[in-house]
Amino acid sequence: MTAKIIDGKKVSGIVREEWKVRADRLKKKGILPGLAVIIIGDNPASKLYVNNKIKACHEVGLHSEVHDLPNDISAEALLDLIEKLNELKTINGILVQLPLPDHIDDSKVLGTIKKDKDVDGFHLYNVGALMTGNAVFPPCTPFGVMRMLAYYNVPIAGQHAVIVGRSNIVGKPMAIMLLQEDATVTVCTSKTKDLEKHTANADILVVATGRPAMIKAAHVKPGAVVIDVGINKLESGKLVGDVDFEGVKDVASLITPVPGGVGPMTITMLVANTVIAAERDSGYAPDD
Ligand code: NDP
Repeated sequence: MTAKIIDGKKVSGIVREEWKVRADRLKKKGILPGLAVIIIGDNPASKLYVNNKIKACHEVGLHSEVHDLPNDISAEALLDLIEKLNELKTINGILVQLPLPDHIDDSKVLGTIKKDKDVDGFHLYNVGALMTGNAVFPPCTPFGVMRMLAYYNVPIAGQHAVIVGRSNIVGKPMAIMLLQEDATVTVCTSKTKDLEKHTANADILVVATGRPAMIKAAHVKPGAVVIDVGINKLESGKLVGDVDFEGVKDVASLITPVPGGVGPMTITMLVANTVIAAERDSGYAPDD
């Protein structure tokens, strides 16, 4: 079997167009959705992600602004900036690019973002909302994965979904979203015994570990749908996922490549959450 490739670029283009229509509707009413991105330090990967996010906002015609702060910024100064953005009418969404420097407490920062502007969905209120099946801002990466699965008509209800990785930004929310759609969900971590026994049982396998090519063909059930969230830069400069694409594509029925799989969807769903925030702020429903 050779898997069909899930084309994240194509799907994200289609989904971005849908959100452009919703943004245009708001603009006709004089409302320009706005996103503020805060980046601290000069981590090249973070810079690249932020550039791509801003580019996506431009494509959809949103207002966006970047607050580029030095690595030694104090926690107080950062929190002050967030408080100011919380009050700004022109800003509907606020995103703080992670990871933060060690001297800054992530949870304090994420908790300071007004929950109605928390387009990453990391504020504890929004985490709780997701957990109880009432997501306000679904976290962008799993939100993008769900949209991609829907585009390719992947059945979810009753399927066994196995997620490798339990981070707050990918693995855990991914598990909750799949559970919400009636999948039977298993979450594996670095402590899981006999990982292959679990992954080889998956109808849908989502991998988010940051371990280059750790999932091999033997980990995958023939015909499974394989979603590779990982983005790893090798010493050669090549970008690879957490899945051994060349080996696994001969076993899976559908597979995401890296790059060009989950990454573009994550960015698109950030745009979606920003438009949703602006619709809520303005009181206009999508079809007003
Ligand atoms: P984290 O480092 O926060 O979490 C990694 C998770 O993988 C942990 O739960 C860890 O387990 C688990 N893990 C590590 N090694 C193994 C192993 N050998 N077997 C099973 N589980 C293991 O990473 P993130 O979730 O933030 O990111 C994961 C990857 O996804 C990275 O490559 C990142 O760059 C990428 N990413 C891509 C995005 C996109 O848009 N495509 C968005 C966000 C992230 P434990 O908890 O026990 O330590």
